[in-house]
Amino acid sequence: MRIDIITCVPKLLESPFSHSILQRAQNKGLAEVVVHNLRDYTVNKHKHVDDYAFGGGAGMVLMIDPIDRCIKHLRESRTYEEVIYMSPDGELFNQSIANELSLKGNLIILCGHYKGVDERVREHLVTREISIGDYVLSGGELGAAVVADAVIRLIPGVLSDETSALTDSFQDGLVAPPVYTRPADYQGMKVPDILLSGNEKLIEKWRFEQAVERTRKRRPGLLLD
Ligand code: SAH
Repeated sequence: MRIDIITCVPKLLESPFSHSILQRAQNKGLAEVVVHNLRDYTVNKHKHVDDYAFGGGAGMVLMIDPIDRCIKHLRESRTYEEVIYMSPDGELFNQSIANELSLKGNLIILCGHYKGVDERVREHLVTREISIGDYVLSGGELGAAVVADAVIRLIPGVLSDETSALTDSFQDGLVAPPVYTRPADYQGMKVPDILLSGNEKLIEKWRFEQAVERTRKRRPGLLLD
């Protein structure tokens, strides 16, 4: 899968994909993330990507022209299943959307900035709008990184333990049970005995019960779905 991210501040996305699991996924050839600078697609002398809002009011608006040019350029080389615009009023991102996107081919993610993008971009150029939560960020870059991270780690082979993503929160409609590592006793704070018992069946049962209990306490809505 290839994810192309369009932004007017590419530096904001330099680090998230260059370390740990996401970097490994790219090194293994399982995913490719390419960041595009909107300024490279401008034709005006000063490489402006934004302009004042018609009708007045505070805040600049990203212009349709460089965005359209960039998307057209990308489409010349390959097909994309979705052109996603990161937007606070978009579909609320969750694990099931991450699962769905991880099964797709290539994706474009467009990051807004300032006041957002010209509405005609949303009407005509994007296929989907995603929000990472009901709050407003300065730009779509961090949101795009969140979406790309959640999607890429689900691609088979990305996580070293194949089953690992399946035991994460939300995957089975439950949040994850607690986990512990050495030492078994840290200054009197002990790991539950059952986890040291070596009895796999009982451990699995305990984990399931813990997951259900946690879900009931923290995300009761999941149990109703
Ligand atoms: N004026 C807009 C907010 C613009 S914030 C409004 O009130 O709705 C600037 C950019 O940040 C947006 O274009 C969007 O791409 C991104 N952004 C802000 N909050 C976001 C969120 N919760 N989820 C996804 N993207 C977000």
